[in-house]
Amino acid sequence: AAKGNGRNQYCYFTPIMQQDAHGRRQILRDLIVARDQQQFVLHYQPVVELATGRVHKAEALIRWTHPTMGMISPAAFIPVAEDSGIIVGMGDWVFRQATRQSALWRTAHHHDFQISVNVSPVQFMAEGLDHDEWLTHLQQLNLPGHSVVVEITERLLMDANVDVRNKLLAFRDAGIQVALDDFGTGYSSLSYLKKFDIDYIKIDQSFVSNLGPDTDDMALCEAIIVMAHRLGLKVIAEGVETEAQRDLLLRAGCDYGQGYLFSPPLAAEEFTAFLASSE
Ligand code: C2E
Ligand code: MG
Ligand code: MG
Ligand code: MG
Repeated sequence: AAKGNGRNQYCYFTPIMQQDAHGRRQILRDLIVARDQQQFVLHYQPVVELATGRVHKAEALIRWTHPTMGMISPAAFIPVAEDSGIIVGMGDWVFRQATRQSALWRTAHHHDFQISVNVSPVQFMAEGLDHDEWLTHLQQLNLPGHSVVVEITERLLMDANVDVRNKLLAFRDAGIQVALDDFGTGYSSLSYLKKFDIDYIKIDQSFVSNLGPDTDDMALCEAIIVMAHRLGLKVIAEGVETEAQRDLLLRAGCDYGQGYLFSPPLAAEEFTAFLASSE
């Protein structure tokens, strides 16, 4: 059930597995083995500038090929990794691996290439996320802070304590950018946009998938884009699958798009070829 990098890539057992306690225990047991045996890899999905088609950056997305069940969706195993605390080490690995890869692409292709990494709220709040170590790692790679985007969700900002604020501020001081992922699906409180220094809003794919002229989703996308621009933020639309969606978003002034229309998430070698062919 696990072939290719595109849609429908995950094994179909997972929606059932993640629901019951037994399934979660099995995932946890296998996750610990997976960590120790380094079964995780990162795939990279291009983020494209809508007006020009230029590849602006990539989002790193973790992939786990289970020895017997094939590819398992992060939507199934990230929650288990969060509950068990495994997410801290996993997220640390994602950050180091993604930035190492990005440094290679910056040297070989785009000198202003950016890499986005998803940071779970559990990971962000844990003592395990040592931002000093992250900054040291970037220095060792010779990467400027602004070459990295941290994708967080409203869930993190909702119960942001002093520790979270300080980490966000430390990232900002180092130039690291912040994207608000899945925007519109959480407890979207506009006060977050005022209180926190954010660079990108990512419009959730649920608003993009049914986009059409004169639809409610179109109205919502337009409103988000206008608001974001007035606040000085850039907008990325997630889950762009058709040219019609791309055109509507472009007309609404959306800055960037990400989705199967441009490319599914790719293995590193495939992404290198994609970058080379899009130059
Ligand atoms: P996300 O950060 O919102 O990532 C976007 C998801 O949309 C990815 O799913 C991507 O494969 C999928 N996608 C991209 N283009 C399209 C499209 O055109 N149509 C549709 N229907 N889907 C598209 P993926 O890779 O399965 O990841 C799911 C979620 O798991 C991510 O959502 C993120 O919340 C989490 N995740 C993935 N990798 C990591 C990671 O390294 N760390 C953490 N903490 N979370 C991760
Ligand atoms: Mg994301
Ligand atoms: Mg998202
Ligand atoms: Mg700002």
